[in-house]
Amino acid sequence: MFFKSAKINEFRLWGLVFTLVGMGIMILGTAGIVLWGQAGKIIAGIFMVFGMISLLISVAVYFWAGMMSTSATMLQCPECGRQTKMLGKTDRCMFCRTILTLDPSQATDLNAEEAKA
Ligand SMILES: [Zn+2]
Repeated sequence: MFFKSAKINEFRLWGLVFTLVGMGIMILGTAGIVLWGQAGKIIAGIFMVFGMISLLISVAVYFWAGMMSTSATMLQCPECGRQTKMLGKTDRCMFCRTILTLDPSQATDLNAEEAKA
């Protein structure tokens, strides 16, 4: 993963990035009509298509994040005490970014918390 944050938060971030890029491309394409007139319309059309693709990717990312969060494990963070979600066996807390794990062999603090989570 690219950022030191919880996986669900990271997916949301990527969704936001694709939304902003898509909108930015479409705005640039529209600006092309103003700048180049008739020729700009073709460029605007191409930019619109790319903008739409980017927006579709962002929707897919959001949808995927939603699907993943339904299968995420709910647990109380031992570090900050807040309710957080984690994906897979190892993830970071959504609030304090402490690395959490369900795998007892990777845990540094071995207590019975894993069994309940
Ligand atoms: Zn925490």
